[in-house]
Amino acid sequence: MVNKAGTKYIFISGGVLSGVGKGITTASLALILKSKGFTVSPFKCDPYINVDAGTMNPTEHGEVFVTDDGAETDQDLGHYERFLDIDLSGANFTTTGQIYQTVIQKERNLDYKGKCVEVVPHIPEEIIRRIKIAGEKNNADIVLVEIGGTVGEYQNILFLEAARILKFRQPQDVIHIHVGYLPTPNSLGEMKSKPVQQSVRLLNSAGIQPDILVCRSDEFMDEKRREKLALFCNMNQADIFRNPDVDSIYEVPLVLEKQQIGQKVLEKLKFRVGKKDLSAWESLVATIKKPKKELPIAVVGKYFTTGDFSLEDSYISVIEAIKHACWANVVNSRIVWVDSEKIEKEGTGALKKFKGVVVPGGFGSRGVEGIIKAIQFARENKVPYLGLCFGMQLATVEFARNVAELKDANTTEINSDAYNKVIHVMPEQEKLLIGKEYGGTMRLGAFPCKLVNGTTAQKAYGRNEIYERHRHRYEFNSQFRDKLEKSGFIVSGTSLNGRLVEIIEIKGHPFFVGTQFHPEFKSRPLRPHPLFSAFIKKSCLA
Ligand code: GLN
Repeated sequence: MVNKAGTKYIFISGGVLSGVGKGITTASLALILKSKGFTVSPFKCDPYINVDAGTMNPTEHGEVFVTDDGAETDQDLGHYERFLDIDLSGANFTTTGQIYQTVIQKERNLDYKGKCVEVVPHIPEEIIRRIKIAGEKNNADIVLVEIGGTVGEYQNILFLEAARILKFRQPQDVIHIHVGYLPTPNSLGEMKSKPVQQSVRLLNSAGIQPDILVCRSDEFMDEKRREKLALFCNMNQADIFRNPDVDSIYEVPLVLEKQQIGQKVLEKLKFRVGKKDLSAWESLVATIKKPKKELPIAVVGKYFTTGDFSLEDSYISVIEAIKHACWANVVNSRIVWVDSEKIEKEGTGALKKFKGVVVPGGFGSRGVEGIIKAIQFARENKVPYLGLCFGMQLATVEFARNVAELKDANTTEINSDAYNKVIHVMPEQEKLLIGKEYGGTMRLGAFPCKLVNGTTAQKAYGRNEIYERHRHRYEFNSQFRDKLEKSGFIVSGTSLNGRLVEIIEIKGHPFFVGTQFHPEFKSRPLRPHPLFSAFIKKSCLA
C-alpha cells in the first residue's frame, strides 16, 4: 500500500449521452492506478429502484453480472473485474432501491432516535456509508465511485449530492471526474464542444466542479476545443483528457495513460506518484491488434428486438470470454448471433459456416425448440459446443430426446407436464416460486465443484476442484443420470457431495461441454477461462 493518508475517493459522472463509456473509463483509470501500486476498489451506483439487477429483463438492463458472493449486479462490475483482475462483491454495488430499503428499515428500528428522516441528508449519508465500506472491505487506497445515469436527470441527483457532501467534508480526499461526449454531426463535419460545456454547467448546478474532464469523441479532440472547454468550464487545459473511439476497449487505459492521467489524478489526491507497470496490458493490446485469422463462432439464442440494450450488452461477459480465449489462441473471433426462432422456421442451415456453437444462459420458452435443434446440429456434426447454464440444461434435454429416446424430455421451466423432466426445479426453489419470492433467491454465487479425472473439463482446468458462479432455479434431475450415462452422456463435474450435476459432456465428440454455472463471469483478458480456451482451441481445428 502506497497510501499513508487514509482512503481517497474519485467520483465519476457522465454527461451529454448515456452509454458514453463511463464504465470503461472508470475501469481504465482503476487499472492505471493499480499499475502504479495503489489498491483500488471500484463502486457502481445504479439509480433505479430495483434492489438489484436480478429482477430486470436483459432488454431493460443488459447483463446481470454475478459476483462470487452471489450479488446480482451491473455489467460495469464485469468490466472492473476484467480490467483489474480482481474478484469484487455486492459491497461494490448499490442502487437507489437498496439505499431507501436500508434507510426505511433503520427508521422502523428507531435507529434515527426520533429524528425526522429526510431525503437529504439521510439518503446521501447512507450512500457515503456504503462507499466507505467498499473502501474498507478491499483495504483500498482509492475508491472509484461511478455514478450511473447522466447529469441533469432526476434519478441520480442523490448520488451527486453524496459526492458533493463528501467533498465538502473531506476536500483533500475527494476529486470529481466528468466524462462528456463531443459529437461531430455529419451535417457540420466539425466536433462540437457545447454539449460538454452544458453538462459541466448542469454538474455545477448540483454543487460540483469537476477536477478532471474526460472527453469522449469519435476522433481525437484538437487543441482548440480543449482551450474552449477550459475557458467555459473553469478548468485548466491540463486537466482535460481525450478519450477518442478505439477498436478495442482494452486499448483505453493505454490511450489515457499516454496523456498521463494517472499522474494527474494522484497529484490532485496528494499521493506520491508511483512508478507504473502496464507492460502486461501493453502486450495484450499488441496481441489484440495483430492481424489474425478469423474464427466464426455462432451464439444461439432468442433475439431481443426491443429495449434499450442490445444483445451485445445482454451477453457482454460471454462475448468478452470468447474474445479472450481467441486472443490466447492467436485468432480473432467473429461472433454472430443466430436467432433461434429463425432456426425453428428455417432449420439449421445457417449454422454450417461456423467453427463452434455457444448457447448462453437464458430464461423462458421463446425460441427454445430452435436452440435444441442447434444443439442437435452441433452434436451430430461434431461441431465444438459450449453450453452455459440454460445451454447445459437444453443440451441435456436434446440428448435425452434424441439419443436416450425419452421423446417428451424437457425442463420443468418449459413444460411442467412433461413425463421426462430431465431438468427440474430445485426443491428449495419451489416454495420461493409459489410465494412469489423472486428477488435474489436463485442459486447464486460461487460454489465448489469437483471434476472427474480424465474428462474434457478436468483436462481443460488441469485441476480437480473449481469454484464457479451460478444463477439458476432449475437443475439436472439425477433420477435420469443412469439412463443417460448408459447412452454416452458424461457427468464430468458435480457438487462436492456428488448430488448436483454441474458439468456434462458427451462421449465421442471433439468438444461438447455444458456447465450449470457461468464460466464467462470469471474470464479475464490476461487470464482467459480454461473452458473457453479449450473450446476455442478445438474450434480452431474444426
Ligand atoms: N432458466 C434457467 C434456470 O433458471 C437457466 C438460467 C440461466 O441460464 N442463467 O435454471
